[in-house]
Amino acid sequence: MKPNHIEHIGIAVENLEESINYYEKVLGLECYAVEEVTDQKVKTAFFMVGQTKIELLESTDPEGPIGKFISKKGAGIHHIAFAFDDAQEALDNAAANGVQLIDKTTRKGAEQLNIGFLHPKSTGGVLTEFCSK
Ligand code: ZN
Repeated sequence: MKPNHIEHIGIAVENLEESINYYEKVLGLECYAVEEVTDQKVKTAFFMVGQTKIELLESTDPEGPIGKFISKKGAGIHHIAFAFDDAQEALDNAAANGVQLIDKTTRKGAEQLNIGFLHPKSTGGVLTEFCSK
């Protein structure tokens, strides 16, 4: 079992509008969606780079996961997401290999993907997301 590609790279930003501007003006990418994910307390913006997306994450609540991340570490790369045919199967496989999971079962993320996170303690410090359609 292996991922098909890198689905997206999640980047925590202080200011979504300014960051969108950077990716559009400097990299020439087009922001094709802005979406609020209320249970994650974030506003997201998406750009396509080949098969991979850049997912910008602006916190809507200082107590939310991105708010806490930024106050601790500052803005920057937050997580990497791998696309699998079946994210649940991939999570189960990781758990069977002794990986500590944040999500034992998948939940709905941005763009209605089924997503689940692995704990960075088990992944060499990289917050890792598995997703599938
Ligand atoms: Zn993500």
